[in-house]
Amino acid sequence: ELSLAQRVGRIKPSPTLAVTAKAAELKAQGKDVLSLGAGEPDFDTPAHIKDAAHEAIRKGFTKYTAVGGTPSLKKAIIDKMRRDNGLDYKPNQVLVSNGGKQACYNLCQALLNATDEVIVPAPYWVSYPDMVLLADATPVFIETTAATRFKITPEQLERAIGPRTRMIWLNSPSNPSGMAYSKAELAALGEVLRKHPQVVIATDDMYEKILWTGEPYSNIVNACPDLYDRTVVIHAVSKTYSMTGWRIGWACGPAKLITAMADIQSQSTSNPNSIAQVAAEAALTGDQTCVSDMVKAFKARHDALVADLNTVPGVRCLPGDGTFYAFPNVEGLMARLGCKTDLELSDLLLEKALVAVVPGSAFGAPGHLRLSFATSEQVLKRSVERMKTLVCG
Ligand code: PLP
Repeated sequence: ELSLAQRVGRIKPSPTLAVTAKAAELKAQGKDVLSLGAGEPDFDTPAHIKDAAHEAIRKGFTKYTAVGGTPSLKKAIIDKMRRDNGLDYKPNQVLVSNGGKQACYNLCQALLNATDEVIVPAPYWVSYPDMVLLADATPVFIETTAATRFKITPEQLERAIGPRTRMIWLNSPSNPSGMAYSKAELAALGEVLRKHPQVVIATDDMYEKILWTGEPYSNIVNACPDLYDRTVVIHAVSKTYSMTGWRIGWACGPAKLITAMADIQSQSTSNPNSIAQVAAEAALTGDQTCVSDMVKAFKARHDALVADLNTVPGVRCLPGDGTFYAFPNVEGLMARLGCKTDLELSDLLLEKALVAVVPGSAFGAPGHLRLSFATSEQVLKRSVERMKTLVCG
């Protein structure tokens, strides 16, 4: 029998993609499935970005580029990081990758050894633990609840850090909780991290722009500039510009680490797609109205969905700070419907109500569901009505 590498046994396929596949199967059978599983904006990529890609093809910009990204895209990224985030980087501190996901993966491969631990606050983006495992290291989880708006406290962080801690993932606003850390909260976490100089901080700022707290966006380096030398900022055009399929993301951080990540990329995938790099540059340097228009739509849907969800018996949903996810507690709903786990509940919702959602346990937070509102208000309304019918009859 064919035997596989041991590392394969440590990981599982992305559960969010599994739900999408199951929903697609039911749809193919002609069922009217309402899909709230998607992790991507439902808007088209803005026209000026697509035009830049057409132009790149026409001009023959269709060959290998520098492994870590074209100089002009790197410049656009450096300008963006300075303009929006007040952070200065040199070209050797920037690596362009195939989406934010490859940036995260390169980071784990370049930094982690088998004896290392990585702190993963839960609920977490599904890939953080598995990427740590693929690098032979061990994820250490910090659990949170709605009581702290799904954010870790400095006390929890202090308790989780040990002599083997090598890295921590931060993701604000968060997929799946939708919550963002304030600058003051990050400063308090920074005070703990300051005492442990061996810990590298990975801040995944993917949803930076999809935020409605009214406060300017802050990551941990904005809150604690002295942590600059051991922080890697992960970013992408995927969510901000509705460009998930183009696969362009980047990492900014210490030159030594970024160079190692580029070396790994050079021996695995080489440069990201040349045409998509031109499109990403157009996104970063072009008119930003498309972003605020999308965010306005997400906020309106968020408000309607959260209000609606809180009318379903057994469902409690906090309003989020950003992203396009709602993350309600559904323990009451599970009890009413006789489901022992959130997995059972999401299966029941898909089979009986034809509503596709992702169970919270996929993100390390059992008793919750993740509902994506990257879909029309009408679909959201009908989904909640179906949930209500299921529970109330
Ligand atoms: N980080 C977070 C928190 C995400 O939600 C996602 C996408 O789902 C990614 C990273 C990866 O994004 P990309 O599509 O740019 O690889």
